[in-house]
Amino acid sequence: MSYIKETIEKLKQTSPAQVEFYQAVEDVLESIEPLLEERPKYREHSIIERLLEPERQIMFRVPWMDDDGKIQVNKGYRIEFNSALGPYKGGLRFHPSVNAGIVKFLGFEQIFKNALTGLPIGGGKGGANFDPKGKSDAEIMRFCQSFMSELYRHIGPHTDVPAGDIGVGSREIGYLFGQYKRLANRFDGVLTGKSELWGGSQVRKEATGYGVVYFAQCMMDDQDDSLDGKRCLISGSGNVAIHAMEKLYELGAKPISCSDSSGTIYHDSGIDLDLVKRIKEEQGGRLKEYLETHEDAEYTSKDDYPEEGHCVWRYEADIAFPCATQNELTEKDAQALLENGCKYIVEGANMPTTQAAVDLFIESGVGYGPGKASNAGGVATSQLEMAQNASMLRWDFEEVDEKLKDIMSNIYQDAKRTAEDFGHPSNLVLGANIAGFRKVADAMLEQGVV
Ligand code: GLU
Repeated sequence: MSYIKETIEKLKQTSPAQVEFYQAVEDVLESIEPLLEERPKYREHSIIERLLEPERQIMFRVPWMDDDGKIQVNKGYRIEFNSALGPYKGGLRFHPSVNAGIVKFLGFEQIFKNALTGLPIGGGKGGANFDPKGKSDAEIMRFCQSFMSELYRHIGPHTDVPAGDIGVGSREIGYLFGQYKRLANRFDGVLTGKSELWGGSQVRKEATGYGVVYFAQCMMDDQDDSLDGKRCLISGSGNVAIHAMEKLYELGAKPISCSDSSGTIYHDSGIDLDLVKRIKEEQGGRLKEYLETHEDAEYTSKDDYPEEGHCVWRYEADIAFPCATQNELTEKDAQALLENGCKYIVEGANMPTTQAAVDLFIESGVGYGPGKASNAGGVATSQLEMAQNASMLRWDFEEVDEKLKDIMSNIYQDAKRTAEDFGHPSNLVLGANIAGFRKVADAMLEQGVV
């Protein structure tokens, strides 16, 4: 058995039932095989064995009282995965699907994503199996306060800097920060994604979505192609999807779909973005309400779509942007996209494509932008927020947006060049994994056995 296969088998035994984590690990380890041959030092110094073990995992009880006076209990997590390149950095996810394996896969991905940005940030991730859907504002606040009552002792501007992810937006960051400040009695840059009124950065809210589109632009430039007039399928309708659609419109493309956990909207003449923002950001409603304004749009409820996969990928389009969640694009979906002539798949979510679907994209030679490269704009702008906090300065929108564009272009060039160097031009999965891994591994070698 090869070293990589053996390592994965061992991982399955020592960390049982963490399937998403194995998937993320397999993706990275299989790509870096040629690098390991070139640099035997990594194996001699057990870099992989050390990387697979988080530096620290914190699991805690989050008790809170709901509006009926009933006591609820959730599971809270923060995984401080790797600090070779800088303080742990990564979001918090509040979603019922959160468990130790999910947080571990997200934390593992984050290490290499953060390395790819070229900025000094390590990898971490956290969250809770809390479902914000249908909760009152007061319940959200009490939950966030309880969550931070434990988390505050583990974080700090030079230690670990959480941010948002699914279910954690500016409102939650506000409540989390308020409780941190009260407990620590410090106004620190200890979270990113803060409100611009009190230390947040311009463009942070938009950054992941904008960054995904900037990355797509880099991929297309290389093919002498452009976004102009392109039909785009988007999944999701959260922060990433909304700002990806916003930038797509700005650059002349046409988003024709989006989705939430109940169903998918397809609107051939182009998604009415203001309406989606109103339904999702202002009213916290369901996308189905879109039909009340646009009778010519199509809505498919998740319950009416019996097939494995996601109906959003069964429409004809030039580019697909999975911006919802992990494993939302299956092998069958990938087949449908390819049959329908889709030329690029650029990921806004973390690990949205199953391994079989990724393999199909790579084999077929379409442009495939893996999330750890294409969605790194969010965390990169978080680091820009940390830099502004540390220097007590504020940069304007254009300045941050320019930096974001440069960072996305550097990530693309880095992944592409690395893929070429290793004899697989256009395989950005291999390029991104090797480029990210190499930085972390070299830093670990230099820092000794810790
Ligand atoms: N949750 C985002 C991600 O997956 C952003 C993390 C951050 O800004 O720290 O990269």
